[in-house]
Amino acid sequence: MSYGPEQGPRARCMHREREQQAPAQAKKSFFPRPWPLLRLCASTARWLGQLFVGRIRGERRCVLCHAVFFSFPRDGAEAGGRGAAGSPFCPGCLSSMPRREKGHCPLCGEPAAWPELPLAPCIRCVKAAPPWDSLHFHGLYGGQLRRVLRLLKFVNMPQFGQALGWLLSRQPELRLLQVDLVSAIPLHEKRLARRGYNQSLEIARALARSLSLPLRPDVLRRSRYTPPQVGFNFEARQQNMRQAFTATAAVRGQRILLVDDILTTGATMRAAVGALHEAGALAVHAAVVSRVARHGRGVPV
Ligand SMILES: [Zn+2]
Ligand SMILES: [Zn+2]
Repeated sequence: MSYGPEQGPRARCMHREREQQAPAQAKKSFFPRPWPLLRLCASTARWLGQLFVGRIRGERRCVLCHAVFFSFPRDGAEAGGRGAAGSPFCPGCLSSMPRREKGHCPLCGEPAAWPELPLAPCIRCVKAAPPWDSLHFHGLYGGQLRRVLRLLKFVNMPQFGQALGWLLSRQPELRLLQVDLVSAIPLHEKRLARRGYNQSLEIARALARSLSLPLRPDVLRRSRYTPPQVGFNFEARQQNMRQAFTATAAVRGQRILLVDDILTTGATMRAAVGALHEAGALAVHAAVVSRVARHGRGVPV
């Protein structure tokens, strides 16, 4: 076999070069080889660049489904208005947690039989109005909202408090209220030690920041331990919560926005608002993320 005039000498040359280079490669250099280092620098620079460009373009990651989305007002407008700017939820998750604007009692939030009915007081509130000055809630307990609340309350994920505080702050009425401070329904020390955090306080913290109001969780405390109220009716819950809260003298003459995660019969909120009024609070407005319908009405199965 004969080599061509160009292939033969080149092939032999490469073989010899490799043999000659072998002892030189065996000798280890004190300095690391530059290519892995340069490759690492390039990949770090690329990652930082993507992060920076992503921030500039308004990219965010949904706290619920982890999808990447844009939180600019123009994108949020498709999901539910200009308030969606800065949203921790993607448009899909946000639209699955609709705000209840009609079809409920404006005093206690009890949903009417039909969601399109205008706001009208329920029979219970006509007989005896609740002690708070106004009630604000985002939506009915169910679907994705129920899932987020359960993640916050029972799965040790306090970070969802911030997301729900943002959701609650989208209520335009809350921004019009004349309020001096924000507080939260406190947990008893025993339950706080078990859970590690107060879910209502996590929501209140984000809401107070969003409304630029001072947060004062110390003005209200649990004076006695109350057993969980699951399965109790309205009267039993009221009896269970009697004298459960004590407010400090710091609330005298103050207008307070009191935050809780869920309102079921309102027995807990009534007891807390009563304690604040006893201590001399001028006005108490209640804000909850979700309203549970009595007898399970309005809660999707
Ligand atoms: Zn999502
Ligand atoms: Zn009512």
